[in-house]
Amino acid sequence: MIAGRIEKIKSALPKKAAALITNEADCFYLSGFNKSEGMVLITENSAALYVDFRYIEAAKAACGDNMEVLLTYSFLKDIGERLKTEGVSTVFVQSEHVTLALKKSMEDRFEGINVSCELDIDKLVGDMRAVKNEYEISLIKSAQGITDRAFTYIKERISAGRTEREVALDLEFFMRKEGSEGTAFDTICVSGRNSSKPHGIPGDKVIEKGDFVTLDFGAAVGGYRSDMTRTVAVGSVTDKMRKVYNTVLEAQEAALAAIKPGMVCKDADKIARDIIDNAGFKGAFGHSLGHSVGIDIHEDPSFSARCETLTKPGMVITVEPGIYLQNEFGVRIEDMIIVTENGCEDITKSDKELIVL
Ligand code: ZN
Ligand code: ZN
Repeated sequence: MIAGRIEKIKSALPKKAAALITNEADCFYLSGFNKSEGMVLITENSAALYVDFRYIEAAKAACGDNMEVLLTYSFLKDIGERLKTEGVSTVFVQSEHVTLALKKSMEDRFEGINVSCELDIDKLVGDMRAVKNEYEISLIKSAQGITDRAFTYIKERISAGRTEREVALDLEFFMRKEGSEGTAFDTICVSGRNSSKPHGIPGDKVIEKGDFVTLDFGAAVGGYRSDMTRTVAVGSVTDKMRKVYNTVLEAQEAALAAIKPGMVCKDADKIARDIIDNAGFKGAFGHSLGHSVGIDIHEDPSFSARCETLTKPGMVITVEPGIYLQNEFGVRIEDMIIVTENGCEDITKSDKELIVL
């Protein structure tokens, strides 16, 4: 499942150097053990996951032969000793995840060893994580399967009189019963005027007839996440609501039809954005078209106006255009796609035609 990952890091290291990985998601990616405050140390000759007493039993079971698992009562002391024993002169750390306080502690503990950010460990691991293998894709598809079933379930239970919070809770409870490990992120359920806030928080607002309700939610399986948004109408829709909905759908479908390997990510964003702008909603789509999903809910690359990365088969990225009209309403429709050898596979199966409940 994770074969070859340690070797890739090793081959990027200069002589007498080591990589110390402290980001939780990266540690999981490299070791196979999820959810710990562990650290992974990779040197020319060794790879080890350091964990404290709370995790040692589970870590040994999860890592198997992937790497050595070591119990520690003092991370930096033990890691410093190994660095010295192995004759390491520079240890590369993750600039995006190491606080100034942690870097200072490392410099104190790793006496005589250079603590450096010059080799970009974040990018090295990030580029590897961007392309998912078959096993990772199977987990993401399982998570999305739960998400699709949850939408089928909740559709029947969204009605005028219920609060946003009740609907969100109902949705989350269903996903947990279906096997989701918690939720992929904080569930969004916003209605009426609240739906113009892309990342609104479900509250005590009562859903009313004539509201749009936007649900943005996901499940997690084996440490991998899913992400989907659907917007439904309750009772009735105005012509304006219908126009906005169909514009968002058209923008999404145009992007989905165009995504293929070797595409510059920002071009996907432009396809959707042009449709929204040209329909008279310039400025109302204030976020990127999408982001990669995996161990973290927001990964690179993204379908943003600034992302120059080329898509590759195995990347899992969301396609989520939206139109948000302040003090009126908002609509977002989000699917997850896998870039394939000649196009993309949409792994979100829930209906997208405007549903009026
Ligand atoms: Zn989402
Ligand atoms: Zn998303």
